[in-house]
Amino acid sequence: MTSKRVYIRTFGCQMNVRDSEIIYGLLIERGWKKAESIEDADCVLFNTCSVRHHAEQRAYSNMGMLAKLKRRRPELILGFVGCTAQKDKDIVFKRLPHVDLIAGPGEIYNIPDYLDAILDGGEKVMAAGMPERPECKNPLYRENKTSTYVSISEGCDNFCSYCIVPYVRGRQRCRKKELVIDEVRSLSLMGIKEVTLLGQNVNSYGKDLKDGSDFITLLEEIHTIDGIKRIRFVTCHPKDTTIRLFKTMRDLPKIYNHIHLPLQSGSAKILKAMKRGYSPAHYLGLIDALRSYIPDCNITTDIIVGFPGENNEDFKDTYNMMKRIEFDSAYIFKYSPRPPAESSRLVDDVGADIKKERHAEILKLQKEISKKKRRLRKAAVLPMA
Ligand code: SAM
Ligand code: SF4
Repeated sequence: MTSKRVYIRTFGCQMNVRDSEIIYGLLIERGWKKAESIEDADCVLFNTCSVRHHAEQRAYSNMGMLAKLKRRRPELILGFVGCTAQKDKDIVFKRLPHVDLIAGPGEIYNIPDYLDAILDGGEKVMAAGMPERPECKNPLYRENKTSTYVSISEGCDNFCSYCIVPYVRGRQRCRKKELVIDEVRSLSLMGIKEVTLLGQNVNSYGKDLKDGSDFITLLEEIHTIDGIKRIRFVTCHPKDTTIRLFKTMRDLPKIYNHIHLPLQSGSAKILKAMKRGYSPAHYLGLIDALRSYIPDCNITTDIIVGFPGENNEDFKDTYNMMKRIEFDSAYIFKYSPRPPAESSRLVDDVGADIKKERHAEILKLQKEISKKKRRLRKAAVLPMA
């Protein structure tokens, strides 16, 4: 047991937020305390994201700035963990020679042991051999005592051509239904009222389990847990989203009326090149069906502008589709090539200025739409999101 303090800085998505919480939980079980700041810590871990170039570079440059602190306090342990650590395992020690630990997302359960080894005077540790983490019982430690994340699957099988996730987090592995239910039940006994189920593609939950369970049956079972008052989930993939899900959302009152359904592009040509597995017409059909079952459903999305080959017509298709659908909100990203993802082999031919212009144009449109939707919800024409 140690009485040292750890500080974790998280980059990226909800998956990483949850992973950082798991790491905190595992370390607290070993006697570590949570530090309030980097200055106050004996160990600083950066839980990194590799989905976009920008977030990755921010992690590198912020960790670079800690070199000075490490010179002043050589006993300070610095760790670079998560997706960028996995992707760049062979270069992190060269780029950041003051770092002591590299650990990919598949290694999070071993982090306490690696830190013990380093504290015992051992060598630096590089642990990024396996992107796929074993199925483990997660610590119940939660930072928020009423609302929390529960991960239901890891990794992804979809290999969208722009996306690095399957390479750094491995293929989809779903957590057994009993393990998820057990975790939610224990959380409800601790006073948690709201759970957000996490997966890269929650709709494909169960595909690899071969025990008959799927996302809908999981939702139905969680719905029976007494203390849980609200259930949310992210992310739904349009190609696997079904009318059965919309009916379940309508019929189970604890399921929050919100769906995050990343569109990515409104152009049939670009969606094909992205390997998303649906057409704009299919996506529009889903939205129309959803609104017929749940007229006030809050709908959010992700959009990428500037994918290779995106011309003015393709961009207009995205713009017009967003205008037609009127999402409640949208995350809009400028495309960046992410080797070894497939599209990184295409020429990144949409210039930085055009990407910036298209990003600003879509953002402006979405801001107007979001404002209008908020006004309608406030006037109770639509319920508040
Ligand atoms: N699994 C989810 C899905 O399919 O939507 C989330 C995946 S990713 C972590 C979150 C978002 O990042 C994606 O929906 C996409 O819009 C964006 N993204 C992924 N790769 C990107 C890239 N190479 N360039 C720009 N944005 C990217
Ligand atoms: Fe990436 Fe596509 Fe999987 Fe989402 S569904 S994590 S975008 S490969």
